[in-house]
Amino acid sequence: MTEKPTTGLMKGTARGMAGLFLCLLMLVVNLSGKAFAAKDIQVNEVRIGEHAGYTRFVVDMNSQVPYEIFTLSGPYRVVIDLPELNWAQKKSKPLGLVAGYRYGLFRPGVSRIVIDTKKPVAIKKHFRIAPGGKSGHRVVIDIIPVTDQTFAATSRKVTSPDWPDYIKRHQQRDVVNSTPAPTPAPEKRKPMIILDPGHGGPDPGAIGSMGTYEKKVTLSVAKAVKAALEKSGRYRVRLTRDRDFYIPLRQRYQVAEKHEADLFVSLHADKIDRRNVRGASVYTLSENASDKEAAKLAAKENKSDLIAGVDLSGYDEVVARTLLDFEQRATMEQSWHFAEMLVKDLGQEIRLLRNTHRFAGFAVLKSPTVPSVLIELGYLSNRKDEKLLRDPVHHRKIGSALLRAVDAYFRRQNRLSRS
Ligand SMILES: [Zn+2]
Repeated sequence: MTEKPTTGLMKGTARGMAGLFLCLLMLVVNLSGKAFAAKDIQVNEVRIGEHAGYTRFVVDMNSQVPYEIFTLSGPYRVVIDLPELNWAQKKSKPLGLVAGYRYGLFRPGVSRIVIDTKKPVAIKKHFRIAPGGKSGHRVVIDIIPVTDQTFAATSRKVTSPDWPDYIKRHQQRDVVNSTPAPTPAPEKRKPMIILDPGHGGPDPGAIGSMGTYEKKVTLSVAKAVKAALEKSGRYRVRLTRDRDFYIPLRQRYQVAEKHEADLFVSLHADKIDRRNVRGASVYTLSENASDKEAAKLAAKENKSDLIAGVDLSGYDEVVARTLLDFEQRATMEQSWHFAEMLVKDLGQEIRLLRNTHRFAGFAVLKSPTVPSVLIELGYLSNRKDEKLLRDPVHHRKIGSALLRAVDAYFRRQNRLSRS
């Protein structure tokens, strides 16, 4: 389907001049290479309409943008990728085949909308419409219900004609290999700590009753911990993300491996059904979960890639990486020691959950070479915890506790390497 021409712009000389001026302005914007800068593109509204036989999903924006759309199964989803956008609109109620949707920065240069559908669907139509009436530039997607078999046979990527060119200019910034790992002289080599703020972009993580987003809490705390560790002058610190975008789980620990990190700390602040439960807890990798709650939590955290609409079909199975690898065993033992120290030092600063150190099969902790822990900083389902998790003073307390635990861990490592 072709796009409708812009109407009403060329009526009369004055409008003609205005149109010409607008065209020139657009040309200047394009030449200066800022055509798709985040600050320029605004989502006005998302509209969902139920029609006979199909559901229409409309993204209304202030500019015409290129797009890519594809479907995923397990669970069934439709993913729309667009250039970096500002999301000022309020959310629309799910309707028809749409069970819900979320959005965010998938990676620098690409914003993503993930639509959960009630059943397998196919993209029947996709097109853009130029501004008209009260509406701005629109990307329109019509989805229809299909059988599982049809889904498997028809699932494919569709794009606007200008998407391949756009994506060529915004090649995937490789999070793992984007910056070469520094190689300082061995005697000067300070331990490298990787801090991983959980979730991000289209995956908000848990959302508290006061509207606190886990993805924002984890980033703020990571920055506070980084500041505390760096101020000591004893460590090099990197964050897996320093702004609000998504990184697939496996890439998070690959960043640590690439930088030959000495420790990997993933930060989270989840929700739990029982609202009176509060306090921080620390998790390390294990084949068998320590308890039901830990197993449930790991299962939830491991869904992060699904929530963010990551297409895992291209990922090879990590068959060789069994937990029984000798190297992994040694790494797991070091992770265990660090977790124990964390529990002790965190307990001096903030409230802890009972049985603070727990175990489960967290995907993000599976590096065979870098000792890794996951900290649940508290529960966003508890009002007191939520208040604290929004408080910069609390973030700094976590920072000092982390510094003491990291110090204790490396004192032990040094003792072991000397003996
Ligand atoms: Zn989380």
